[in-house]
Amino acid sequence: MYFIDPHVHMVSRTTDDYERMVRMGCVAVSEPAFWAGFDRGTVEGFRDYFEQLTGFEPKRAGWSGVQHFTWLCINAKEAENIPLSREVIAMIPEFLNRPGVLGIGEIGLNKNTPNESTIFREHLDLAAKTNELVLIHTPHLQDKYKGTRMIVDMLQERNDIPAERVCIDHVEEHTVQYAKEGGFWCGMTLYPTTKCTPARAADIIERYGDDRIMVNSAGDWGPSNPLAVPDFIQEMRKRGHSEAKIKKVVYDNPLEFFSQCERFEFQAPE
Ligand SMILES: [Zn+2]
Repeated sequence: MYFIDPHVHMVSRTTDDYERMVRMGCVAVSEPAFWAGFDRGTVEGFRDYFEQLTGFEPKRAGWSGVQHFTWLCINAKEAENIPLSREVIAMIPEFLNRPGVLGIGEIGLNKNTPNESTIFREHLDLAAKTNELVLIHTPHLQDKYKGTRMIVDMLQERNDIPAERVCIDHVEEHTVQYAKEGGFWCGMTLYPTTKCTPARAADIIERYGDDRIMVNSAGDWGPSNPLAVPDFIQEMRKRGHSEAKIKKVVYDNPLEFFSQCERFEFQAPE
C-alpha cells in the first residue's frame, strides 16, 4: 500500500532510511522544522536549516523517488529566546514561496510557558497574514493535556485561521477528542518509547473514526522508527479493516489536508 508520512524529520535520517521507506510503499514525506538537539545561536543558523529543508533535502529524497514537503518555524524549545524567535519569524517569509513548503510548523508548546505561548501566537499571526497552513506540536506526557487545551484556546480566540487549515499533532487518547471537536485535523505519532503505538493508534481510529486524522513516525534523531506507518498498516490489516479505510488514514487524509496549500504539487504514483 502506498503511504505518506506527514511528520518525519528526515534530516536526521540516512539515505538508507529513504530506501527502506520506499520499499514499504512511501511516496511522500512532510518534514516540519524542529529542534536539532541543541539551541541554535543565531538567525543565520535557521536560515541555513531552512536552506537544507527546501533545497538539499527534497533533492536527496528524490534520489529514492520520495516527494519531500516541509514546514518552517522556530520550535517551542527555542522559543524561550524571544528576540531570536522574532528574528526567525521575520525571516521565514523569504522561504514561504519555495516549492514544497506547506506552511508554518511544527509550532506549539513544549513546557507550556508564557514565552512559548507568546511565540506560538506570533507564528499564528504570520500564518494568518500569509494564509499558510499550520502544523502544531503538542507537549509530551504530563504536559500534553494542559498544553493541548492551551493551544486550542489560543486558536479559538481568533477568527483569522480556519480550523480545517490546522493540524494538531501528537494527539493521544486523552487529547484527540479535544482536537477533533474543534474542527481541526489531527496527527498521531507512532513512537517506540513515548507517544502512541500502532495498536493504540488503531484503537483511537476505531473509537473516534477515520475523518481528519493521520498517522506519522516523527522519525528523528532520537529513538524512533521511520517504518512506523507500515507497522500501523499491518496492525489495521490484522484487525480486519478494509484496505480503503487504511488508505484513507495513511494516504488520502494527508493529501486532503496538504491540498489546501496552493503550492502543493503532488505526483500520484502510477
Ligand atoms: Zn516533530
